[in-house]
Amino acid sequence: MSLEYSKPIPAVQPWTEEFWRATKKNQLLIQECQACNSLIFYPRKYCPQCWSPNLGWRTASGNAKVYTFAVMRDMVEPKFAPDLPYMLAMVDLQEGVRMMTQIVECAPEAVEIGMDVEVTFRDITDRHALPFFRPCDESLRTAVSKTTDRADDAGPLAFMQPGDYETIRYEIGGANNAICRITLDRPDKGNAINRRMAHELRDAFRRVREERSVGVVILAGAGDKAFCAGGDLDVFPSLAEHQASLNWLAHEGLDVQRAITDCEKVVIAKIGGHCLAGGLELALCCDLLYAKESAKIGLTEVNMGVLPGWGGTARIVRSMPVHRARELVYSGSKNYTAREAYEMGLLTRVFPDDQFEEQFEKLAAQIAAKKPIALRMGKEIMARSAEGGSIDAALALERNGIQWLVHAPDVQSLMENFRKGVKS
Ligand SMILES: [Zn+2]
Repeated sequence: MSLEYSKPIPAVQPWTEEFWRATKKNQLLIQECQACNSLIFYPRKYCPQCWSPNLGWRTASGNAKVYTFAVMRDMVEPKFAPDLPYMLAMVDLQEGVRMMTQIVECAPEAVEIGMDVEVTFRDITDRHALPFFRPCDESLRTAVSKTTDRADDAGPLAFMQPGDYETIRYEIGGANNAICRITLDRPDKGNAINRRMAHELRDAFRRVREERSVGVVILAGAGDKAFCAGGDLDVFPSLAEHQASLNWLAHEGLDVQRAITDCEKVVIAKIGGHCLAGGLELALCCDLLYAKESAKIGLTEVNMGVLPGWGGTARIVRSMPVHRARELVYSGSKNYTAREAYEMGLLTRVFPDDQFEEQFEKLAAQIAAKKPIALRMGKEIMARSAEGGSIDAALALERNGIQWLVHAPDVQSLMENFRKGVKS
């Protein structure tokens, strides 16, 4: 049976690319720390034992024992329904690392804790294969069953390159290459977000996380009509199906939000023209929101009988006083001026149109001149505290974070220069 493979496809990261290339060649790789010799699974950027970034790869034997398992007989994610019942398992590889996987080619009642299993690979696209495990004992094996579904085109396996972007621009520059500009680049469509743009934004914000010189990311819209007018209406017909809309919200939307909030740089929204619906939701993921006086702001989803679904309904009440936030959500107005939004507590600053460029660039450059590591730590501490966890936990993070910064390269000399400067 050949179904279209519509389940999630691995999101390839720079540090997982090697792993996924190998599965396509039916090899299972695990990482090995060059500093402390720890074996590591899943693939990471740093050794979880000693924090060394020097990690190599080792081909695993593929032999394992079932550590524990659960038989899935019913569940809510419809795309997995054709596979029921199936066995989720944790297996201990002979090399000593534990993997989450599925046991396949085996009846549920035949699976046992401690059972010997071996790796087997299934192609899900022309470029992606997933590792599963099956019993070593051939008498326990059942025929390879229905999970032969494949997707025709899931995009390139390799990480995209900025030159591949079609809907955004990605440019690093400024003093010491400390500023990355990510520009929504569909000016004739109000820079509206389509599937391609969501994919590229996710890629770009994950990429910029790895750019060591960059401390500040500026998210802007091309042209002067819009920062971003929201989701591209052409996406909507494809959302008529329950599963497709769930994907748009829960995978594409949530992944973009997280890529922005987790990118570890100070992200500044540079808002001119329309900043509506999904556009405002993108801006809400940013650290600072600077707007032109002529900008128009609003959450218009309620006019279609829905609500902001890319984090907007949840984030807006954490971004301004709650009784004012509710008016934005309930009214659906797209005509809040930047000045009104500022007075309601939403924006960081508003500048007159003729001064906007100059003032914005000055502020961005001022922040970009700070040490990226200090900006990153500040972002982390303030985010954890603003999330509303205990103040003690946030204070502990602050103490530890600053202790760490004090001993970062050349911070001692910066502090000494500052002390001398204050004295003289
Ligand atoms: Zn290590």
